[in-house]
Amino acid sequence: METFEQTLVLIKPDGLKKSLTGNILTKLSESKLEIAGAKVIRVSKALAEEHYYELKDKPFFEELLTYIQGKLHGEHYERVLALVYTGEDAIKRVRQIAGATNPEDADPTTIRGAYGRITTKGVYENVIHASSNPEEAEREIKLWFEPQEIVYDLYPKEEKVLNNVKKLVWK
Ligand code: UDP
Ligand code: MG
Repeated sequence: METFEQTLVLIKPDGLKKSLTGNILTKLSESKLEIAGAKVIRVSKALAEEHYYELKDKPFFEELLTYIQGKLHGEHYERVLALVYTGEDAIKRVRQIAGATNPEDADPTTIRGAYGRITTKGVYENVIHASSNPEEAEREIKLWFEPQEIVYDLYPKEEKVLNNVKKLVWK
């Protein structure tokens, strides 16, 4: 049985630097899923650490933080494009199109197989991130997006009055 799901996709700094945004979105559109949210974000160290907290004990963790922050790709690419895709079996469908984590193992017709590489320091620069299960997707979508930035009611939300919160507004 198919289930309606949502998943987080990040076009990582290498994907942006290689000018692959169009190719990646075209590939992902084969899935017939819908985009429910999208934005360009500068990734802080704190956000990078939170996103990859499960990998904090891995030897490549620090290098991975540097990579996702765009610090391997020059100042202009210190950003990612974050997207939320929704639809039937969204998580599995996007992972299939993304391909295996290691770009050398990934099928060459997948995004990672076609465009990824392994750096000399051993990090898999694999062009995109995609959530791998519903719990991870929920955690990641809530980490990267605020409720009003997504066009669907994906998760329960509440209204809160916040005092003393500094916020940038248009003037
Ligand atoms: N990664 C790496 N070396 C590894 C495993 C992972 O450089 O041996 C990087 C790679 O960029 C990967 C990210 O860490 O996309 C997150 O790893 P994960 O195991 O969650 O793979 P994913 O879910 O991205 O396929
Ligand atoms: Mg993962």
